[in-house]
Amino acid sequence: MRFHVLTLFPELIENTFGTSITGRGLESGKLALHTVNIRDYADNRHHKVDDSPYGGGAGLVMQAEPVYRAWESVRRECAGAPRVIYVTPQGHTFRQELARELAREEELIFLCGHYEGIDERVLKEIVTDYISIGDYVLTGGELAALVMMDAIARLVPGVLHNQESAEFESFHNSLLEYPQYSRPETWHEKQVPRELLSGNHKEIEDWRLEQAKKRTRERRPDLYEEYERRQACERQLMKQKLLHTDMLESLRADRGRILHFEEESVALADCEGIFYVTAKDPEAGEKILEKISNNKQKPALLVLHQEFLVERARKLLGPLACERRFPYVYTQKHPLPRCYGAEIRPLTELEDQEREDVAKLVQESGCGQRKKEAFLACFRKGRVYGAFVEGRLRGFMGQNQAGDLDFLYVGELWRRRGIGRALETAWVNQLLGQGARPFVWVEEGEESSRLFQESLGLCRAKSPVWILAKP
Ligand code: SAM
Repeated sequence: MRFHVLTLFPELIENTFGTSITGRGLESGKLALHTVNIRDYADNRHHKVDDSPYGGGAGLVMQAEPVYRAWESVRRECAGAPRVIYVTPQGHTFRQELARELAREEELIFLCGHYEGIDERVLKEIVTDYISIGDYVLTGGELAALVMMDAIARLVPGVLHNQESAEFESFHNSLLEYPQYSRPETWHEKQVPRELLSGNHKEIEDWRLEQAKKRTRERRPDLYEEYERRQACERQLMKQKLLHTDMLESLRADRGRILHFEEESVALADCEGIFYVTAKDPEAGEKILEKISNNKQKPALLVLHQEFLVERARKLLGPLACERRFPYVYTQKHPLPRCYGAEIRPLTELEDQEREDVAKLVQESGCGQRKKEAFLACFRKGRVYGAFVEGRLRGFMGQNQAGDLDFLYVGELWRRRGIGRALETAWVNQLLGQGARPFVWVEEGEESSRLFQESLGLCRAKSPVWILAKP
């Protein structure tokens, strides 16, 4: 993740972000920081970037042109068009779910204001997100940007070490974290709760959940209400749990936000840009799809769980390509027996030879442009795994943003040696270790995929899903 910060005080950003865990993230290369001093883009000898407001009143306003030029200098360096976040008390309040969404970006640009703020015209031209860190006014945007950058950075894979895990903590599942204790067992005559000393994992887990609920109810009743709604929504989805594994996984991983929940109908907006819909009847479906078509964020992928939603979605959201697929889910709790056909490891930083092998295999697989792009996207996010035999890459697989297994390919000369099985086994076991439920969407009629998934013990849902995307 690369942070660009447009600011009048670059040293404030650099000194703070370069310290402690974020500093370590910079050293390891998991994070990168690029500060731009807006004053360097002033067109006067004194590097003045502010002037008095039209219409009169107190204070000074940052002028449009230096801000615009500073932004242009960053844009020229970026591959895509990164989101530009103006930190301002006039934005939406920053929350953990937004931190999770932003941690999935490859680059972000932060714009820090000062004085009375920034000329509205440049904001209109470059800003994509207006975000506040709370209902109070700071003297400048740097501290706000640092607060956000810190919360985002710790969610970037590899920034936290295992012992600093970000998996179970406040706001996960809309609950505050349970109370924590460390040595000694008795302090100021206060004992560590008996359950935590029992050594019984189930008892500890139950105690922690109860404490988290109690604490959230007492301190944040608003959050507790969200928790209860979420629980009710999960219970509804569990009524057809194989069909709804995608939605349950999106909620479990804290990617999904409930957009709609009424009777037996649910819509989720996943921070990866996927929208999921399950509806009781066409009328309920219509209501949800209208909500989605009016939503500011448009779906990159729409996953529908009933056929009657497909035509309606196309009418409301424009022409969309549609694939009908059956969910296959690994429903067991125990891991699959390890396969010894190949060594499996993530394909992240590649050696020259490995890069060549990947290019060859992708070429050989004959996949179309869309699959190639999917592969590259998975690769950039560290979601592609390689199968190595005697040190050479002979197959690979990738997990897509919905969490399902997206593609699995084994070189032609290396088939029937258990390499595909080794790849999927490693993936299933890794997900189980993270508390996730592995699933794959198999296209109807793909007999060999069906047999392969069944041989690994994955169960097919009774009905399919319809996956819609821009053609
Ligand atoms: N005149 C502005 C107003 O009333 O909305 C406040 C300007 S403030 C003094 C200067 C800068 O600090 C803002 O442009 C913004 O970048 C930053 N800032 C102040 N409070 C903030 C907050 N709560 N969240 C994020 N940024 C904030």
